[in-house]
Amino acid sequence: APGPGRPALPPRAGCIMILHGRLKNWYVKESPMKRLRLTSAALALALFAACAPSSPEEYSATLLAMDTAMTLTAYGGQGEAALADAQDLILDLEGLLSTTDQNSELYALNQGEAVALSSSTREVLEEALALCQDTGGALDITIYPVVRAWGFTTGQYQVPDDDALSALLERVDYAQVQLTGDTLTLPEGVQIDLGAVAKGYTGDRLMELFRQAGAASAYVNLGGNVQVLGSSPDGDPWRIGIRDPEGEDYAAVVEVTDQAVVTSGAYERYFEQDGVRYGHIIDPSTGYPADSGLASVTIVSPSGTLADALSTALFVMGPDRAAEYWRGRDDFDFILIGKDGSITISEGIEDSFSFSGEQGSVAFEVVRR
Ligand code: AMP
Ligand code: MG
Repeated sequence: APGPGRPALPPRAGCIMILHGRLKNWYVKESPMKRLRLTSAALALALFAACAPSSPEEYSATLLAMDTAMTLTAYGGQGEAALADAQDLILDLEGLLSTTDQNSELYALNQGEAVALSSSTREVLEEALALCQDTGGALDITIYPVVRAWGFTTGQYQVPDDDALSALLERVDYAQVQLTGDTLTLPEGVQIDLGAVAKGYTGDRLMELFRQAGAASAYVNLGGNVQVLGSSPDGDPWRIGIRDPEGEDYAAVVEVTDQAVVTSGAYERYFEQDGVRYGHIIDPSTGYPADSGLASVTIVSPSGTLADALSTALFVMGPDRAAEYWRGRDDFDFILIGKDGSITISEGIEDSFSFSGEQGSVAFEVVRR
């Protein structure tokens, strides 16, 4: 320990000396000489890593893509190059999956063109179609004609008349989409919207990229879709704030490692007419904005694609169906915030979940298996 007249060691050097000394003694007693030499080399390395500065180099970027502001942060590894690649990847995926960009692969598909699918488009379509089926059509990527009729793609909002809506609903049915190999076949008039899953899929791809670049940890916020690699640089789980749908503050915090935290809510995009609020998440069974009593749905899952797809689908289902659906799977947890401010979480995140406000002030329930 530093005493009078003796300068304190820099924390890093001190750390190595103290730990190395202690462990070496222990090994002298326990190990044969040959193994000792090997292990002490390995130990020295391990200790060096353990005693490296607690925050590895941080690399960060912000960009506007997929209709939203995105932040990317990576720690360690080939961070700078990885960030440049990450931005390229996002722009590439946007260029494939955008409904409105006339040069995108999805745009061509929606025009009925025969396109040899890129592996990314095929992968996201496969995952999305499987989830359309699994959610019984609460998620339906063929919702596009209806989304467009409400004006959510252009911002020219309107309440479509019922006849127009029923005509459009005839075209909404994910089961009509045929995906075989790299060929997608859409019947006349059927059009796909990947808005409910594209950012989640992008998150998965970014995690893969950062992992391959050797990053120790990373964090991306794709306009409300958060996904993290590893734990935070100080070794603790990442703390993710869940927005209060009624305000600018956080309603709660969830702690995660290697997971996606994705929120869907009508507050993200909506318009008001004659005192009624119309949100951008459509119930495919009615063609109307989903009105299931929920203000927002947050899904926590290792898969960004799953989290994104299910945040949309469970918003459509409403609290009771959402809980039933959750009981049938084991790969995600949820946080439901009701229009009345009540909070319902699934038991898997009970220990990693906390309110940011006063606990007593809201109704709170844990759903169990
Ligand atoms: P998210 O913000 O992930 O909940 O996705 C919402 C977006 O997905 C909307 O803006 C629409 O483009 C699209 N969408 C709306 N309703 C549905 C639905 N029931 N199934 C699939 N996509 C939908
Ligand atoms: Mg979604």
